[in-house]
Amino acid sequence: MTLPTSASAALFERARSVTPGGVNSPVRAFNAVGGTPRFIRSAQGAWLTDADGNRYVDLICSWGPMLLGHAHPEVLAEVNAAVLRGTSYGTPTEPEVELAEEIVRRTTAEKVRFVSSGTEATMSAIRLARGFTGRDVVVKFAGNYHGHVDALLASAGSGLATFAVPGTPGVPASATDLTLVLPYNDRAAVTAAFAEHGPRIAALIVEAVPGNMGIVPPEPGFHAFLAETCRAAGALFVLDEVMTGFRATAQGGWGLTGAVEGWTPDLVTFGKVMGGGFPAAAFGGRADVMSHLSPEGNVYQAGTLSGNPIATTAGLATLRRATDEVYAHLDAAATTISDAASAALTAAGVPHRVQSAGTMFSIFFRDGEVKNFADASAQDEKAYAAFFHAMLEQGVYLPPSAYEVWFVSAAHDDEAVAHVLAALPKAAQAAAAVGGN
Ligand SMILES: *Cc1c(COP(=O)(O)O)cnc(C)c1O
Repeated sequence: MTLPTSASAALFERARSVTPGGVNSPVRAFNAVGGTPRFIRSAQGAWLTDADGNRYVDLICSWGPMLLGHAHPEVLAEVNAAVLRGTSYGTPTEPEVELAEEIVRRTTAEKVRFVSSGTEATMSAIRLARGFTGRDVVVKFAGNYHGHVDALLASAGSGLATFAVPGTPGVPASATDLTLVLPYNDRAAVTAAFAEHGPRIAALIVEAVPGNMGIVPPEPGFHAFLAETCRAAGALFVLDEVMTGFRATAQGGWGLTGAVEGWTPDLVTFGKVMGGGFPAAAFGGRADVMSHLSPEGNVYQAGTLSGNPIATTAGLATLRRATDEVYAHLDAAATTISDAASAALTAAGVPHRVQSAGTMFSIFFRDGEVKNFADASAQDEKAYAAFFHAMLEQGVYLPPSAYEVWFVSAAHDDEAVAHVLAALPKAAQAAAAVGGN
């Protein structure tokens, strides 16, 4: 055994002896890019500082939540004041009401219920849809991630309209044999599935803009088609805005589709940004559907820490500062960085494709349009790993996987953006040196 060469490496060794893989969520382990994950000690604005004192411009932003940047002074002041009033009471509180009002004001949801993670939000939305419709079947798309809900950790069955199989050991076949997994952006597959199973379908769930395989925008009208197909079949249309909500645009992913095309989802899920860096998430939607939830209705759902006063205070403090100027800034920073990354990769001869949705973008290490999970999977992951490590060495923290969004924040100022831009040419050359293997 070699001695750890850094504080991060030493922590990783300790972590691995007490936690599977040394991490509490798999992608953090750097398995897709190799090397030692950095243990972050503190963060401020656009910058992370690791256990060795190295600084990085953060292009993960906690996988989306840190819309205003890290340790925003006004958000921290509100959170600190809330902590001094006690951290959890297990009773209703005013911040919950205020955050719910803010979300209802900003989104299509007429009523919301708070939970503690995006996984809990989608799980609860599916249960409510099943309870409301009295039906059991759920439709999802390959490459769309909705948290680690058993029924949604599913892989496509052998035919388009056949039921799914478990996507991981530990999920019983009985949890996925009411799930249909279809190729994204494929209207014929949706039509075939509804033709065969329509009267049994409780809900169709889709990411408002898929971002968990990299950004794969819906083809124009695809989500309008889904909404109409659900309506015609008496199924609920569930829009998963956990990543895109309050992030892709001021109106989430829906701002790019439903707001333009004139449809609204029956149910919608939120997480990430709405918790301001704390564990808070929500599901909501049509008032007549939401009223089926306990205690108003008979579909059971509950949570000890749901609507926690610290988390809801942080979320509210974040959303109240998520102004049009903030979204304009995110847009500009995202465009500057994605344009420069594309230019550097082009100059180095690295095949790539930039795809974006509002302020969110990702870069696929392959040529040509990416329309679905099969397209996204055909990437040069080795080239990405070389690119990632060259950026990391130059003080830029990218997602440690080629299938993730690059997130910016309101704190990504000229200095932070310039730091990213300066690192790109060398990283593109590193990718070129291993590319095509
Ligand atoms: C992150 C995410 C989830 C799961 O949220 P967790 O808080 O990690 O459980 C669900 N859906 C989408 C679209 C996400 O991006």
